[in-house]
Amino acid sequence: MTTRVLKADQSALDEAARLIRAGEVVGFPTETVYGLGANALDGAAVRKIFEAKGRPGDNPLIVHIADLDQIAPLIEGPLPPQAQALAQAFWPGPLTMILPKSGLIPPEVSAGLDTVGIRMPVHPVAQALIRRCGRPIAAPSANRSGRPSPTAAAHVLEDMDGRVPLILDGGPCGVGLESTVLDVGAQPPRVLRPGGVTPEMIAGVLGPVEVDGSALRPLEAGEVARSPGMKYRHYAPRGAMTVVRGARAQERIAQLYDRAQAAGQRACILALEAHMPCYGQRRALSLGPDAAAAAARLFDLLRAMDQDGIERIFCEAVEARGLGLAVMNRLGRAAAFDFIDAGEEGAR
Ligand code: AMP
Ligand code: MG
Repeated sequence: MTTRVLKADQSALDEAARLIRAGEVVGFPTETVYGLGANALDGAAVRKIFEAKGRPGDNPLIVHIADLDQIAPLIEGPLPPQAQALAQAFWPGPLTMILPKSGLIPPEVSAGLDTVGIRMPVHPVAQALIRRCGRPIAAPSANRSGRPSPTAAAHVLEDMDGRVPLILDGGPCGVGLESTVLDVGAQPPRVLRPGGVTPEMIAGVLGPVEVDGSALRPLEAGEVARSPGMKYRHYAPRGAMTVVRGARAQERIAQLYDRAQAAGQRACILALEAHMPCYGQRRALSLGPDAAAAAARLFDLLRAMDQDGIERIFCEAVEARGLGLAVMNRLGRAAAFDFIDAGEEGAR
């Protein structure tokens, strides 16, 4: 199959909607990352997403809607008041709510669970596409399973060339990390995957919110993943990555980098903008000035590591608050939780 990449204008949107209605899979931009979309109500079309990604069948997809009216047929029972309040506050936007699913959702979408994740994206191309299809679109991130999520059409092409007929190019994604996944029905509501809508923002609407323990640590032996995606190696560059936190992180990273280079490994440092001068002539790329910038750049940087043949990556930690929690969650998974604490005595 040849893969076309088209600038997301009106005629490209018409073509994408036609393909989706015909049961095909299309790459498209959202404000979080690029998605790989199919008709959410067509199990056979949804199976093509799993094939194109090489995604394990037990990892459910998020269903994307453009209007609140689209939600009622997709869920069992009425929309709970908490979900209504969150939709009011954060939709359209990067928040996915886990709700009891109706019989209309094919088992492929929910990976056999009795719940479904639903989100209303704010990106104009995503909205236009859903409206033009006239049905909800099931879409995971448009990367090959295990690879960093795509934040530009070129990333999607890198992973999906020959696997999907069309990719809509809508420029770089604004948030750059996948949506927040929230189990609204849990008591208290529980963030299963941190993202652009932070726990602090959700707490501002609902009161106390829990963050699932798996956000910042690997699953323990026998522990069931509440958010199935969390059990897979994810977002990983090919080089081995270490995340260093603590007051003396810069010193420690410089040391580790020098050691790796001396051992003949091609190494690279990822650092906050303000710390770049600490690394002198060493190969270092900037995460930007803060967590929001780091979120927007992270996946692009991880792909750049692969293109540059980097074997060893040393990355500064950011504070795990606000959007920083989502950044640390992705860094943890990209680094297989190889975290080092470089506090006062850590910097020997
Ligand atoms: P992706 O769009 O590739 O980031 O994948 C969607 C992610 O959302 C999955 O990996 C799950 O972790 C999460 N998700 C989707 N549906 C559900 C659900 N019904 N229950 C819990 N987590 C879900
Ligand atoms: Mg994904």
